[in-house]
Amino acid sequence: LGKTLAKTMKKLAGMTIVDEEVVKEVIKDIQRALIQADVNIKLVFKLSKSIEERALDEEPPKGVTPKEHIIRIVYEEMVKLVGETPKPLKIDKKPYKILFVGLQGSGKTTTIGKLSRHFQRKGLNTAIVCTDTWRPAAFDQLKQLTQEINIPVYGEPENQTPLEIADRGLEKFKDYDVIIFDTAGRHKEEKHLLKEMKELSTVIRPDETILVIDGTIGQQAGEQARAFSQSTPVGSIIVTKLDGSAKGGGALSAVAEIRAPIKFIGTGEKLEDFEVFDPERFISRLLGMGDIRSLLEKAEEIAEEQEVSEETVDAILTGRFTLREMKSQFEMMGKMGPLQQVINMIPGLDKLPKNAPDATEEKIKKYLTIMDSMTEYELDHPEAIKHSRIKRIARGSGTRNEDVKELLKYYKVTKKAMKGLGRRNRGGPMGQLMK
Ligand code: GDP
Ligand code: MG
Repeated sequence: LGKTLAKTMKKLAGMTIVDEEVVKEVIKDIQRALIQADVNIKLVFKLSKSIEERALDEEPPKGVTPKEHIIRIVYEEMVKLVGETPKPLKIDKKPYKILFVGLQGSGKTTTIGKLSRHFQRKGLNTAIVCTDTWRPAAFDQLKQLTQEINIPVYGEPENQTPLEIADRGLEKFKDYDVIIFDTAGRHKEEKHLLKEMKELSTVIRPDETILVIDGTIGQQAGEQARAFSQSTPVGSIIVTKLDGSAKGGGALSAVAEIRAPIKFIGTGEKLEDFEVFDPERFISRLLGMGDIRSLLEKAEEIAEEQEVSEETVDAILTGRFTLREMKSQFEMMGKMGPLQQVINMIPGLDKLPKNAPDATEEKIKKYLTIMDSMTEYELDHPEAIKHSRIKRIARGSGTRNEDVKELLKYYKVTKKAMKGLGRRNRGGPMGQLMK
C-alpha cells in the first residue's frame, strides 16, 4: 500500500502542472491507507476534501514543483488531523510527581518502566511507587522490569492501602527528581476507577497525570480519553500496543481529534519499545511512506548529481536489493549527510533488529573498502560468497575474515528487514509503524 502511494507520488515527479487525475489518484491511495489503519471514515473524507481543494486551487509557489506542492499539502492537512507536535514533559520542580491512570491491562505498569528509563537517560533520578494492591504481582512486575536499569521501586502490597503506600512513597523518595506512581486500574467501570484516582490524586498532588490507553481498541480510544479527561485533569496520553495492531491509526486519530495531547507511544513489551510521539513521523509511517518526502527529494538530487541509476533509487524505495545496491546505497549515504539521519529516512532501515551489526560511519567506510574487493559476480550474488571467497576478499581489502562476515551479516539483516517491510505492508500500512 505504501508502495502504491509511493508510485503515485513518483508519477507526479515529472509533471509541470498539477494534473487533476493524479491528484485524485493520490487521494484515493491515501484514503485506502487510512481506512485500513482504522481511521474514522468521516475524518478520512474530510481530509480528502481539503487536500483535493487545496491541491487544485492553490498555485504552487515559485520554484516548487507540483509534486512537492502536493506532498506538502498532504502533510499539512494530515498533521492537522493528528495534531501539532506536543510539548515535551517539562520537569520543572523537584520531586516532579507523575500519576499514571488507565484501565487494567492498558499497559500502565509496562509504560512506567519505559518512562522511567526515558527519564534516567536524561540524567533524572527517578523512582517508582506501586500503589497497586489489587494485583500483588504488579509490584514484582515493576521490580523485574526496572531491575536491569536500577530504578528503585517502593510498594507494600500485602500490608497497606494504596493511599498509605502513596504517602510513604512520597516521603521515601522526596529527594528524587521524578517519582512515578503506578495504580491498579482494576475496575472495569470507569466511574469507580475515577473515584479511586481522585483519592490518590488528593494524597499525591501530581504535577502531571498521564492516561494510558490501549491502542488496539481503535477508534474507541477517543471515547475513553474523553471520559477520563472530563473527570480528571489528564495532562498527557500514552497510547500503547501500537505494534502488531492494525488499529493504531484509529486510536491515534480519535484521541487527536478530541485534542488530547499524545506525548508517547508504546510499540512493544520491552523497555526500549517506546517513542516520543511525532505526528509527522507517524503520518509517514501511517501512509507506509517512510520519510519518503525527504527521501525522494534527496534521492533525486543525488541521482542527478551523481548519476546514480534510477534502478538504485527504486531498489532503495522497494527494498529489492543485492550487495550491489547496498554498495550504491552506502555511497549515496556518504553524500546525503549524517548517516543516522539517512537511515531514518529509509523505510525499514530505521528499525533494524537488535542483532544487526552497527552501521556507523566508520563501519560503512570499511564495508565499502571490502566491497571494492569483490567481483561483479559476487556483488550480484552475495549468497555465493563462502569460505574461500571470504578469505580472498579479506586479503584483497586488507581486512579480516570476520569483517567480511560481518558485512555479509549486515547485508542479510538489512535485506530481511526490507523484505519484512513488503510483507507487513500487506498486513496493513500500520504494519510499518509497528515493527
Ligand atoms: P496495566 O494493567 O495497565 O499495568 O498493564 P500492563 O503494563 O501490566 O500490561 C498489560 C499487558 O500488555 C502486558 O502483557 C504487557 O506486556 C503488554 N503491553 C504493554 N504495553 C505494550 C505495548 O506497547 N506493546 C505490546 N505488544 N504489549 C504491551
Ligand atoms: Mg499494572
